[in-house]
Amino acid sequence: MSSKGIKKKTEFGLTKQKSMKSNLSDKIVSRSILPECNKLIQYTNTFLSTGYRLNFTAKEALNSMFYCHNDTINQWSHLLSLIGAIVLYLITLFTDFRVKALSGYEKSIFCVYLFGCIFVFASSTILHIFDCGSVQLSNVLLKLDLTGIAVMIMTSFVPPLYFVFCEYAKIRTSYIVMIFTIGGTLISITWSPRDLLTEFRYLRTLIFVLMVTSGLVPTVHILIHVPSPHCWKIFFTLMAMFLTYGIGTLFYAFFIPERWSKSHKFDFLGHSHQWWHFFVTLGAFIHFKLILICIEYHLTFGPASQTI
Ligand SMILES: [Zn+2]
Repeated sequence: MSSKGIKKKTEFGLTKQKSMKSNLSDKIVSRSILPECNKLIQYTNTFLSTGYRLNFTAKEALNSMFYCHNDTINQWSHLLSLIGAIVLYLITLFTDFRVKALSGYEKSIFCVYLFGCIFVFASSTILHIFDCGSVQLSNVLLKLDLTGIAVMIMTSFVPPLYFVFCEYAKIRTSYIVMIFTIGGTLISITWSPRDLLTEFRYLRTLIFVLMVTSGLVPTVHILIHVPSPHCWKIFFTLMAMFLTYGIGTLFYAFFIPERWSKSHKFDFLGHSHQWWHFFVTLGAFIHFKLILICIEYHLTFGPASQTI
């Protein structure tokens, strides 16, 4: 092929790329020109004024990961958290002396929480990539995202309850059944035809807070059951986790900090949803640390320790 031909092809490629980019930036709009139905379901945060993607196709939505709008950070933060969780689990499975001492079945219990992490971070990433098409699609994606949060909370209880109450099968099973029943009920409410998503935003947040607090009874039981020093290690890790999720919920529910900015300087970087993602990821990793402490207790005081 002649050099002229190559030049032509390159120019064409560049022009095509440039026009696609400019087409997409044309579809990034300010809140004032969003249709009312989109404002209601997709974009409930009234404090963000610019950077909204409107009527994107699936391909455009995927491409939108690589340029700036008000959901770019949200897309990447949970995608990277997903990759981080898998890598952390793999490294721990092969290098951590506590996890290496577990039986195959116990290792699979340890990995139940990884399933919850993968579900929550993947559903959130999918939501933030594709939440720019039809309102119906956004509705489904939002429900998927909420389901992910419920699944993560449910699975987060399994390893600590298993390792702490290893020799008390009835107690352990009762708590796990209780948490899964509450979680399952919340998931079925989320997917019911009644539109919880737009009508009861605060109720929805409250339901999830209630779900977390429903774990209070087994948590207190764990603290009473486990002797010192593991008891204190678990206590302080739990406090750090509740504090993290608590602060994240405050940012999310009250649109902090953008509610205090008149110049809308947080539209692209630093708004509440990005902080919410940050605190969810931080809380998830603190919970991972908690599971390792429970495994340590199990190996020191559990039935397995008596056979060593
Ligand atoms: Zn999100």
